[in-house]
Amino acid sequence: MPAITVEQDVTLPRVPRVDPTVQRARPVVSVTTAPTGFEGEGFPVRRAFAGVDLAALDPFIHMDQMGEVEYAPGEPKGTPWHPHRGFETVTYIIDGEMAHQDSNGGGGLITDGDTQWMTAGAGILHIETPPEHLVASGGLFHGFQLWVNLPRTHKLAAPRYQDIRAGKVGLLSSSDGGALLRVIAGEVAGQAGPGTTHTPIALVHATLRPGASLALPWRRDFNALVYTLAGRGGVGQERRPMRMGQLALFGAGDTITVTADETQESRSPDLDVLVLGGRPIREPVFAYGPFVMNTRAEVLRAFEDFQAGRLGTIPAAHAAVRGSSPGSPGD
Ligand code: MN
Repeated sequence: MPAITVEQDVTLPRVPRVDPTVQRARPVVSVTTAPTGFEGEGFPVRRAFAGVDLAALDPFIHMDQMGEVEYAPGEPKGTPWHPHRGFETVTYIIDGEMAHQDSNGGGGLITDGDTQWMTAGAGILHIETPPEHLVASGGLFHGFQLWVNLPRTHKLAAPRYQDIRAGKVGLLSSSDGGALLRVIAGEVAGQAGPGTTHTPIALVHATLRPGASLALPWRRDFNALVYTLAGRGGVGQERRPMRMGQLALFGAGDTITVTADETQESRSPDLDVLVLGGRPIREPVFAYGPFVMNTRAEVLRAFEDFQAGRLGTIPAAHAAVRGSSPGSPGD
């Protein structure tokens, strides 16, 4: 996992030790297993939130773990041009590379701990593809994409693009020094991440060495989720078992607890988790295909607007030669 790593975590600020007399551990409500599926032109994903009530996920809508997959030469796949309206996408690449371009002029290449944050707002078209050289060579690909809802008042906001390089994330270590935390968005234990959202959220990629334990203070007004990207461990004070591809939903309280098993498989020597939560929006959600609105009528309107070309147009360079010209998204 070449997402940003640090040789000597001892130099990093540490998460303050939890005081159990005043900070209440959040209980584990459920641990669910993500089913596998295919996205875009056929890349393998795990549907991280499947089987969890949307109200418990609020303000999140959807999350796919992309891979981890070892592609043969010629195999890497992306998505065709497609529209979005009414929410934000957060894409984080751990292994491999993903090129992105949108109809609003946003775009870039993300790799090794980089994040691409796209506010679709009123409407956008975008394409996500592995760069040509990766299609030719094949190789390891691993990342995730999270959908963050927008409140009714911001659903038709202007589209926005944030390119967050790996070096910009906030770094912390656990109080025992055994876990590295990368704060991608929000503020966690006094460390701020670079991503900004219309709805307040916190998003952390944590790597726990075997046997390490993480007790993370978490805002009471945020929900709390932990998804395992790799390895195995336990969640909550009861150390309920959790492994790669599983999601833990926590109840109310002040802290989130994650512990890495002493023994890990050699292919994933550490426990890698995403810790995420946000302030629930508590509005009706009507999500269908690429649109996340409040009502069915608004989703139908989004389809009409897309058909009429009102969500944007594909840049000319792409309409001619998709993703391979000098103006390709990887440049
Ligand atoms: Mn998309």
